[in-house]
Amino acid sequence: MFEILRSIDWSDHLPAMPAGSVALVGAGPGDPSLISLRGAIRILQADTIVYDALANEALLRLGAPQAERIYVGKRAGVHKMGQEQINDLLVDLAKTGKRVARLKGGDPLIFGRGSEEAERLRQAGLPFEIVPGITAAAGAAAYAGIPLTDRRFTSTLAFVTGHEDPTKEESAIDYAALARLGSIVLYMGLRTLGGHAAALIRAGMDPATPAAVVSRATLPRQKAVTCTLVEIAGRAEAAGIEAPALTLIGGAVSLREQINWFERLPLFGRTVVVTRTRHQASELAAQLTALGAEVIEAPTIDLAPGDEAAIDEALSDLRSYQWLIVTSVNGVAALVEAMRRHGLDARALGHVRIGAIGSATADALRQHFLKADVVPESFTAEDLAEALRRADDFCGRKVLLFRADIARPALTDTLRSLGAECTECSAYRILKPAALPQELLEALQAGRVDWITFTSSSTFQNLRELLGDDEKQLRDVKLASIGPITSQTIRTAGLEPTVEASPYTVDALVRAIVEYEKGA
Ligand code: SAH
Repeated sequence: MFEILRSIDWSDHLPAMPAGSVALVGAGPGDPSLISLRGAIRILQADTIVYDALANEALLRLGAPQAERIYVGKRAGVHKMGQEQINDLLVDLAKTGKRVARLKGGDPLIFGRGSEEAERLRQAGLPFEIVPGITAAAGAAAYAGIPLTDRRFTSTLAFVTGHEDPTKEESAIDYAALARLGSIVLYMGLRTLGGHAAALIRAGMDPATPAAVVSRATLPRQKAVTCTLVEIAGRAEAAGIEAPALTLIGGAVSLREQINWFERLPLFGRTVVVTRTRHQASELAAQLTALGAEVIEAPTIDLAPGDEAAIDEALSDLRSYQWLIVTSVNGVAALVEAMRRHGLDARALGHVRIGAIGSATADALRQHFLKADVVPESFTAEDLAEALRRADDFCGRKVLLFRADIARPALTDTLRSLGAECTECSAYRILKPAALPQELLEALQAGRVDWITFTSSSTFQNLRELLGDDEKQLRDVKLASIGPITSQTIRTAGLEPTVEASPYTVDALVRAIVEYEKGA
């Protein structure tokens, strides 16, 4: 999603702010897709991004690679940087001519001290703008299925902070007034929730009023507890509810049973690991996330350029080939890159017939005006070999194979046995990264991983090697394999894939996981 936003020149639609100005941007409640378009553009255009704990770090990826990113996080009690210091920082950055995106959780003007930052910029004579965000209450309402207002229950709504300025002597909250409202959202104050609930009941609110605590709203690990006002504090504590969380009080909480959609997504509550390269992970990760899963990206393969000399030699002799075989999307990327280097375009391949393993490879070719002549119905090297055998008499044919350095010999062996003259080009190399991300190791340790997806044999082999002694941890996890070759590799290691995709595509892999979870 962010790649596309980044590829657009937004200056035609929203010119960048002047140098030396600040955009106070509401980052939304958690789910990064809930930021406003204007907010996203301001991040894209920023020289410096200043952010705190509640702004989803995924949004930082929107920023230009060279943009400076400064964390000024605050977490309950522990302030990394005081508000005064943050105000000074914004002023200093703007004074040195930076375009600053100041990312704040939810909406900057709801319990966010955005007004203090804006005032300070105004006093310093610096230009700024304020970009609204989806506040946590609205996020929680939508993703937990609890309307903030509903004409059957309430037409009044209050946002209250349960935290208050700790230096205040007496509570500024007018509980008697609140007790008369139909809908209350209590931000912060998870620890003081019991006190607030008791005060509301003392002020006349019905103890049986429906109430809900929602934590990590809009994120894959959203958790909600629903009961009555009098029970809510105890139930939230018993359920181990953690910050950030807020409390919704009022009759409309009862609608949750009907309209809670997010927690009913097929993969909600599941943690799924994607082992592809970061570059390729996005499609699979996006599909899983859209189905409610928490996705951990843990690339177990890295791609590096292939044998350039061999590629160059093959390309300078393209005329002599009758067939070109491309075995993956990465192979297509390497081919296109090499052709660009040689100043060639699609016409240079006009005379060759093209074979592709897999529909994704064929799609990638099509984007470059190349239509594959042969795409097997099932996507292994053996299937392609069989499909090719049916398509042509390979005796004496010259075939150029664009594939990974560690490709299996099956395809070439078959073509040679048919009399073809094969040139194998190592179009790219598959490397093993130095280590696994800490996030994955911690999730495995905690037994929090439900699925690991493997889109090739090397993604599995490398994961095992990178886990080393911890390899046992794979036994408790469900393994999803893209196809029979990958499954075979998994079995050779003494493990059994829980599901296997059919056909061997990312879509089918996701479908297989969903089907399994439905039956489970
Ligand atoms: N400006 C923010 C609020 C900041 S105060 C906004 O408009 O949302 C921080 C409080 O917001 C937290 O203590 C919690 O009560 C609430 N909050 C923020 N993100 C949340 C989330 N994802 N789920 C539940 N509550 C959240």
